[in-house]
Amino acid sequence: MHLVPTQEEVVRLLERTGALRHGHFEYPNGLHADEYLQVPLAMRYYQHAKTLSVGLSRQLRANPEIRALIPELSIVAPATGGLPVAYGVCEALRAHQVYWAEREDENQPLRFRQYFEQLAGEKVLLVDDILRTGSKLTELKKLVESNHAEVVGLAVVVYQPTPRTPDFSPLPFYYLAKLDGIYHQDAADCDQCKSGVALEKIWV
Ligand SMILES: [Zn+2]
Repeated sequence: MHLVPTQEEVVRLLERTGALRHGHFEYPNGLHADEYLQVPLAMRYYQHAKTLSVGLSRQLRANPEIRALIPELSIVAPATGGLPVAYGVCEALRAHQVYWAEREDENQPLRFRQYFEQLAGEKVLLVDDILRTGSKLTELKKLVESNHAEVVGLAVVVYQPTPRTPDFSPLPFYYLAKLDGIYHQDAADCDQCKSGVALEKIWV
């Protein structure tokens, strides 16, 4: 394995651990896809989690602006898939701290714990296991910025863009593998549905 694992190495690791499966799936937001991807299934193995986190941290360290910020850098994740990535990256970088936002229930906005305070001007790296629709990272970025902290970049293990994925540029964005899953807006638009292939619903 390379110090920064290659796209092929990451894909093989995800397939071997069952984190990446091929078939006909429906996501909770209604998109149909030919791939199932749940990075936490790979992150349950400590050595794999470490390989992925160290790889990501090396990419981050190669950015001189981010490298200069490491001693004061906050690694912030939307719970829960991003947590092992956030801790792994923080450990590998020796960054300042890790914390995360979560929601009380599905209909509530993301928020930090009671009594938790972000500092104005605090430098924040947003981390998650995957960037797919981007809705969680977009909400987390808004939450951080509403506290006058500054997002300095984003890092995920897997980038799997859909027709709805936002572009976070000019912020630097890092990922270890890009997966081009085939997405369809709904059943009417889906080739596998038209061919009568059995559908599995994804519940996370
Ligand atoms: Zn379908």
